[in-house]
Amino acid sequence: MTPLNPFTGAMLQLKKAATVAQLNPQVLAALQQPQRVLEADLAITLDNGSKKTFKAFRVQYNDSRGPFKGGIRYYPKVDLDEVKALAFWMTMKTGVVGIPMGGGKGGIVVNVKELTAAEIERLSRAWVGAFAKHLGPQTDVPAPDVYTTPQIMGWMVDEYARLTGSWQPAVFTGKPLAVGGSLGRTEATGFGGAMIFEELAKKMKLKKGATVAVQGFGNVGYYFAEKLHDLGYKIIAVSDSKGGILDIRGKGMDPRNILKTKQAKGMIDGCYCIGTVCDCENYKQITNDELLELDVDVLVPAALENVITEENVGAIKAKAIVEMANGPLTPEADEKLWTRNVVVVPDILANAGGVTVSYFEWAQNLSGLYWTKEEVFKKLHEIMTRSFDDVWAAAKKHKVDLRTGAYIVALQRIEEAMKARGLVK
Ligand code: NAD
Repeated sequence: MTPLNPFTGAMLQLKKAATVAQLNPQVLAALQQPQRVLEADLAITLDNGSKKTFKAFRVQYNDSRGPFKGGIRYYPKVDLDEVKALAFWMTMKTGVVGIPMGGGKGGIVVNVKELTAAEIERLSRAWVGAFAKHLGPQTDVPAPDVYTTPQIMGWMVDEYARLTGSWQPAVFTGKPLAVGGSLGRTEATGFGGAMIFEELAKKMKLKKGATVAVQGFGNVGYYFAEKLHDLGYKIIAVSDSKGGILDIRGKGMDPRNILKTKQAKGMIDGCYCIGTVCDCENYKQITNDELLELDVDVLVPAALENVITEENVGAIKAKAIVEMANGPLTPEADEKLWTRNVVVVPDILANAGGVTVSYFEWAQNLSGLYWTKEEVFKKLHEIMTRSFDDVWAAAKKHKVDLRTGAYIVALQRIEEAMKARGLVK
């Protein structure tokens, strides 16, 4: 089956929630396309002296609640419909957590693995050059996404300062600490997801010791698993792109040990089961497909989109799924899980800890006052738990799944802002 165009899929989700929420038709009409789409061809000189051109985008989806906010993706398969869908989801994400920002997203069609650091720097500076007049701390605040890093944000904030003659750290987030990055940003998405997990556990009456399988052991999957382990839940399976491991004792693994072995040996499968940390009697190698089908209390896809589809949804045994990756379920799989009473915590809530701490970074840059890690996590906890309660209440009130509940929360906030500004009647 041909996968649904991501923007078409996003608009179907929007219309479903808008109907349930009885959204003002003018708001619905406004949210069916971005406010502005910027495109550019970025020509840079490669290290060998030749010229190469890269297609670049910035989609400014909606700024009714505050400046456009969203990352820049460097990826060979980036296209305008994907960037539009991601920019729409950012609008929903900032709405769900109630931070005073809108939604946007950017991208460059590029395989960064084929470029040197100097070439990536020139390309990143060229992106800022192309779009600078539409960016700004109160206009549009980009951030990192797939294959964009704090270093890239460092180059971008410098280029913006060079072009405008003014040092404005709040124009980009996800920066290195030395140029105004926030403490806690690295852990924010994983830890924020763990805060959501704790709220879900209360509702589902899951006890400490409940079993969890995590797909993906990168920034998000690692910090999520680390926090859950510390809270007393059992991480019984983890995986990366090469495969996974299952703790057949059922006792739970310490992600710190797994990370140590992964860093020493380079991968999770095979290598983790060497030496004193574990042995092959207690740990079994599994594939990523097997991980998804484990009989665990909670399954946490934290790597890629579209991993649970019509094909494998029938084999899913978990009671709940927490979407730490963006878009890990296809709409068909989502529908089937709802009919089977499997609770799905949607990405726009579960992984919103990242954009929330990005907002904290922006706020710290604007005030010039910097917070401790403890302050960052305390404020993050307040926002994540309040957002979970808002989404849960909306879903119960309208008798819908949590994804539709999350959309309803976001759409109502956008409608209120548009009315308050006189943009709709
Ligand atoms: P990352 O690059 O740090 O890690 C990705 C992980 O996925 C790695 O462990 C990689 O080995 C694994 N992986 C890759 N291919 C795989 C495969 N075929 N099967 C299983 N695992 C595979 O990325 P990240 O920042 O952790 O992001 C993960 C997801 O979370 C993405 O969907 C991203 O959009 C989303 N997300 C990230 C943030 C953030 O702050 N980093 C915020 C919101 C959403």
